[in-house]
Amino acid sequence: MLVPTNFGQVFSPKYFEHFSCMASRCQDPCCKVGWEIPLDLESAEKYRKSVENFSETVTEDGFGGLLFKLRPDGSCLHFDSDGLCGLMKKTGEQCEICSKYPRFFEEYDGFTEAGLSVSCPTAERLILDGDFPYEGIENRTTDDRLLKFLVEARAMAMEMVENEPDPDLAADRLCSFSEGLQILIDYDELNMLKASEFDRAETLPEADYREFIDKIRQIIFEKAEKISPVWEELTDPKRPMSKAFAGTKAERRAYLEYLIYRRFLKAVSSEFIYAECLFIRALYGLAAGLSEDYFLNVRLISREIEHNDENREALRGYITDMLEGWDGASASTP
Ligand code: SF4
Repeated sequence: MLVPTNFGQVFSPKYFEHFSCMASRCQDPCCKVGWEIPLDLESAEKYRKSVENFSETVTEDGFGGLLFKLRPDGSCLHFDSDGLCGLMKKTGEQCEICSKYPRFFEEYDGFTEAGLSVSCPTAERLILDGDFPYEGIENRTTDDRLLKFLVEARAMAMEMVENEPDPDLAADRLCSFSEGLQILIDYDELNMLKASEFDRAETLPEADYREFIDKIRQIIFEKAEKISPVWEELTDPKRPMSKAFAGTKAERRAYLEYLIYRRFLKAVSSEFIYAECLFIRALYGLAAGLSEDYFLNVRLISREIEHNDENREALRGYITDMLEGWDGASASTP
């Protein structure tokens, strides 16, 4: 698998190299999700020359690019009944986006991080079933002060999650920890990270937390765009909530660590690690209560929120607005 080389060293979790697409044996193929699948113009030109009537299978995206057309059931027009890609069968090549998926590459100042998305069932199995795959997560070199701070803080957060026997408590402690981190960022005290006494055992106040999760559910259940019929059914506001707490402790911990790996450093642009960790907490909380099938919940959340700009930003927007009145100065100084 080709990886970017112009953004410094590339780091990836242990499971990254073990991924292999199940193709026609996939239980829940990405080609049927209903996603808009973009196509680069260079590949389109190549396919036009080699595949008959190719132009009729794509449409303009309104921004100068192209998208593959979808059938009414959400499957890509090139997805054949044998579960294989018709375009690949004809040309021997996958389009660029499909050849990368479910891999992602995040480029930072000085290094690149690669990973797999839990939206693919095969990747999800590798991520949720494995042992701790993020060894050496603190080994990143950068000249960016805030990024360096976040890399160190993320390693501390991972250590806390690994050592906390209850992953649900670890998810709450992550929020409290990030509140302390936010104060250091806001007061430009980044060098105080190791010296600060974070009370990482503290949890969110119960009442605030319940209100927070209720509001998150309301946004997702009543206002969000819904792509797949299963998700629509699971997030029907009239559907009684699942009483069971889905997933084993090991699976929930692995999901929490995946979210931390994938999202924590994004605070380097927003400078809002507290909001980022509340977003992580929201996704983690949703996954435990949607249905009794934890793998289905995690996969759908990734497809419908993580990979959906509109829904992701609606949640992020709510969290940011909620924290608008938050005053780090009045919170306990770490
Ligand atoms: S969801 Fe994953 S395993 Fe299934 S077809 Fe897509 S990339 Fe392959």
